Amino acid sequence: TSFAHFSFDEQLMNQIRKSEYTQPTPIQCQGVPIALSGRDMIGIAKTGSGKTAAFIWPMLVHIMDQKELEQGEGPIAVIVCPTRELCQQIHAECKRFGKVYGLRSVAVYGGGSMWEQAKALQDGAEIVVCTPGRLIDHVKKKATSLQRVTYLVFDEADRMFDMGFALLFSATFRKKIEKLARDILIDPIRVVQ
Ligand code: AMP
Repeated sequence: TSFAHFSFDEQLMNQIRKSEYTQPTPIQCQGVPIALSGRDMIGIAKTGSGKTAAFIWPMLVHIMDQKELEQGEGPIAVIVCPTRELCQQIHAECKRFGKVYGLRSVAVYGGGSMWEQAKALQDGAEIVVCTPGRLIDHVKKKATSLQRVTYLVFDEADRMFDMGFALLFSATFRKKIEKLARDILIDPIRVVQ
């Protein structure tokens, strides 16, 4: 597979070229067409495999399609991840590629300023990258609304379970998350790299 197979537009292709990526990685070859097709997916790939871009590129295509259909408030895409560092890394990637379409990303994570994050959310963003507890705090305080979300990613979901976000999901976390995955994913395709 080459990048040409993804049928990305010139704006996105130019940015990929600027990144000096010569060809898609295996997880991108397998995952991008599935995500572009709108199917749910469980992707299993290591750090360094290019998995972040594998969900970001289709996300941008989805947002651009969606934006024309739907006016409204709140993010269209939400990426949930286990740590602040990962949150910041993914946010940087979202900005790097999202800027070609003028899309805005906001990172909200525990330990950062509630007030600054709330302000950024209220200024508006199509993409929110978050840790789970902090996202819930902001939703409860009505700093943002999730009613427009149609693209949802749990990155490093296994690590989130290991760290035991016990407050959210209680002690029987793994069982619950498996059930959650079963409940919320519709006929998911499993991609193992
Ligand atoms: P990740 O697995 O998402 O943490 O990505 C690991 C690194 O691979 C990041 O520094 C990306 O910028 C880089 N990367 C992502 N896609 C490609 C690609 N197709 N070719 C070369 N490097 C890539």
